[in-house]
Amino acid sequence: MDHFTYKSGALHAEDVSLTDIAKAVGTPFYVYSTATLERHFRLFDEGLQGVDHLICYAMKAASNQAILKTLARLGAGMDVVSGGEYQRAIAAGVPPERIVFSGVGKTRAEMEMVLAGGLRQVNVESEPEMHLLNEVAQSLGKTVPITVRVNPDVDAKTHAKIATGKSENKFGIPISKAREVYNLAAQLEGLQVVGIDVHIGSQLTDLEPFALAYRKVAELTETLRTDGHDIKRLDLGGGLGIPYSKSNENPPLPYEYLDLIKRETGHLGCKIELEPGRLIAGNAGLLVSSVIYVKEGEGRQFMIVDAAMNDLIRPAMYEAHHDVVTVVEPAPRQPVMEYDIVGPVCETGDTFAKERAVAQVKSDDLVAFRTAGAYGAVMASEYNSRPLVPEVLVKGDQFAVIRPRPTLEEMINRDTLPSWL
Ligand SMILES: *Cc1c(COP(=O)(O)O)cnc(C)c1O
Repeated sequence: MDHFTYKSGALHAEDVSLTDIAKAVGTPFYVYSTATLERHFRLFDEGLQGVDHLICYAMKAASNQAILKTLARLGAGMDVVSGGEYQRAIAAGVPPERIVFSGVGKTRAEMEMVLAGGLRQVNVESEPEMHLLNEVAQSLGKTVPITVRVNPDVDAKTHAKIATGKSENKFGIPISKAREVYNLAAQLEGLQVVGIDVHIGSQLTDLEPFALAYRKVAELTETLRTDGHDIKRLDLGGGLGIPYSKSNENPPLPYEYLDLIKRETGHLGCKIELEPGRLIAGNAGLLVSSVIYVKEGEGRQFMIVDAAMNDLIRPAMYEAHHDVVTVVEPAPRQPVMEYDIVGPVCETGDTFAKERAVAQVKSDDLVAFRTAGAYGAVMASEYNSRPLVPEVLVKGDQFAVIRPRPTLEEMINRDTLPSWL
């Protein structure tokens, strides 16, 4: 559920007309709904009432300071995957003890940063990383709480580029090697084992892979406890999918997922940590764009819009579907047309949708790409020298620009010339 609906003939974000935002900000822009972000966070947080837990929002999905602050105020922790994300979380006022650090390639500099600032735990993904983290911790005279990310070798049944839990993926250590690696961790004085971590992929639309993975983690918990390790936290990752198409997708609901977690891990008495990203931010954001031209092709009509693959790369990168709607509510008898919806970038890959049924549009009409809140603005670039797309946050009847569009001058002035030019 989200808070983007037609009111008095125009698509609104909560109580703000997108037409009004477009007038103030220009297009394209991302717009997020505070109520939707908050609602999605609470689905997890309240759904685990009675279970000791922490929801660490996977901030790589959408990491604007205003979004982080909105969630942090509700008690969210953050799952960070770089030193930059760590600093962003700290800057947004997230308490260090609510930050977990994931990722396969943590550098020494990043380790030094998070150890100096403090954090809840590092999710370690390899033995070399474990040795380096131990060395850095000892050099700073610290002990760092860790989990080991295990790779349970289950098929997440999602897009190949976002599956992370098969043995051929680069993530975690094979679960078959877990005992060995935990025994190593126990010998390293700079590390304190606190739990187990797993994350098998993103946009999962089936509960079965979660069930398989969590069962393996539950079994491992008991084995490791027998080996003498103090396993008190289970970080069960993120990955729950969302419906990108209103018409033909129905991924599991959060409560079904949470019931599964309780069923598979409830008997262990562990603190549960979850890292949802997409489910919190995805349906909380739209990308709003203007139609530049409608062009008659051979046997097809192109809707050429002013957003492009540099602003929203998901269709080009993951063959992702985004529902597209007009911002002005279609009149009852307005014809529905089939469009190839494309951006201005000089690549055929810059195609958002093919043969997509949308109410008939003309130049300067506004359209919205739905479900663009996660992995949208964060993956934007300035390819084709198109200034970075701005972001807007709505709360009730108010809106604020939370990242302005750079001027062309600002964009160009980020380059610096060498002395010989
Ligand atoms: C990307 C990622 C997540 C979030 O995945 P979603 O599909 O957005 O929920 C959680 N944990 C880790 C380690 C990740 O890399």
